Amino acid sequence: MSSRKRLGGVCAVCMVCTLGALVSVARADGRATDAYLDESRARWEHVARQIWDTPELGLGETRSAAALLDVLEKEGFQVTRGVGSEPTAFVATAGSGAPFVALLAEYDALPGLSQVAGQAKRQAVAEGTPGHGCAHNLLGTASVAAAIAANRERVAKKLPGTIQLFGTPAEEIGFGKTFMIRDGAFKRTDVVLAWHPDDQNRVTNRTRLAVTGVDVEFFGRSAHAAASPWLGRSALDALVLFDHAMALMREHILPTARLHRVIREGGTAPNIISDHTRGEYWLRDASGESVNEMLGRLRKAADGAALATETRAKVTILFSNREPIPNDVLNAVLQRELDRVGPPRFDDTDQRFAKAMQKELGFEQAGLATTVMPFAQKNGGTASSDIGEVSAVVPLAELNLAARPLGTAGHHWAQTACAAHPLGYKGMAVAAKVLAASAVDVLTEPALLKAAHDEFLVQTKGKPYVSPLPPGAKPVAPR
Ligand SMILES: [Zn+2]
Repeated sequence: MSSRKRLGGVCAVCMVCTLGALVSVARADGRATDAYLDESRARWEHVARQIWDTPELGLGETRSAAALLDVLEKEGFQVTRGVGSEPTAFVATAGSGAPFVALLAEYDALPGLSQVAGQAKRQAVAEGTPGHGCAHNLLGTASVAAAIAANRERVAKKLPGTIQLFGTPAEEIGFGKTFMIRDGAFKRTDVVLAWHPDDQNRVTNRTRLAVTGVDVEFFGRSAHAAASPWLGRSALDALVLFDHAMALMREHILPTARLHRVIREGGTAPNIISDHTRGEYWLRDASGESVNEMLGRLRKAADGAALATETRAKVTILFSNREPIPNDVLNAVLQRELDRVGPPRFDDTDQRFAKAMQKELGFEQAGLATTVMPFAQKNGGTASSDIGEVSAVVPLAELNLAARPLGTAGHHWAQTACAAHPLGYKGMAVAAKVLAASAVDVLTEPALLKAAHDEFLVQTKGKPYVSPLPPGAKPVAPR
């Protein structure tokens, strides 16, 4: 994708500059949201800690969703639960009529990433249990805080429109938002503003990868492994052969692509020839087209392994997320507010903790990010998210705030340790201020909304949204 793509005759990069004056008019109104978030800060840290203390996996986030719903309902938001046939998904709304400005709250944890808060060495709270290794406790809380702050401003200033807060479960298993889209939850939404904890402060832009997750199963014939192995046909042999084919394939894929997997079922005992095995494979790349091309090759590798071992292969798609469609108008709004609010103000204690963690991990002891990155193409990391699906149905922009040491990544115990530490709360507080002020900017400035929508129409022209979910699909957590 060109980095200087033209939007209705206006250079996308220059949109960030030309919208500056427009956004600055609205910024004066955004300050009240900062003040509210400063005075209610303890409340949000309490909610974030509450969710961190009860880490729950995708589709099982009952207590985490309840903690967020509790504050939203106390603020007068109307709530619809069980959206998209997902028990822990919800939509909370306040206000009436257009425009509908939405924020996204995630709150699922990751398996096995339990970790003591504020501890720079690996030590689980409870071994083998989930932990907030992607800091979705901070993510969900900041978005809810921002929705409430923006709504208070909407009421105080008698602004037209509706604030929506989408409670989106099961991000880590790849499909929470996709089912909500399928059931029409975003139908009335005009724009979506999102964030994710990170090691940098920036507006993300054209970086997240498309992803498809599949189950690959092999069916063989069981036999006694010593008495009559010639009667058996090993499903484990097939899976090993298939996995080797995928490893060889890694040399012949684009540098932007990623292939990774776990073996979910490898058989029951060495002395029984396995008649069933299963691996979960994820394919990622910068475009959905490339992911689909790799999926075709994966299917051939599975059939080839089955042919060679006289077994049968079955490939089942678990989920699929496209790469996010950027919206530079909304990116500009987030960048202006991020520049205005500034980076999290980490103190010496935060920096010392970050450096101790970097030392423990063998990373450069660079501490925490203390600046905001200027707006640029390719800002951000290479993770995937179901926000890609949301960006295909409504204009969306996303930012990152530092909530872990420089050089560290999510999906790691280090992030769990930081997600209930003052440094994580500081990132969360800035995220809430930027999102709240940006939401108010969009409510108060119809020109922004129109420009964002016009850009969206250009980006999606001739590409009507098609759900990646097969007909009749139901949200099911991985086995
Ligand atoms: Zn995440």
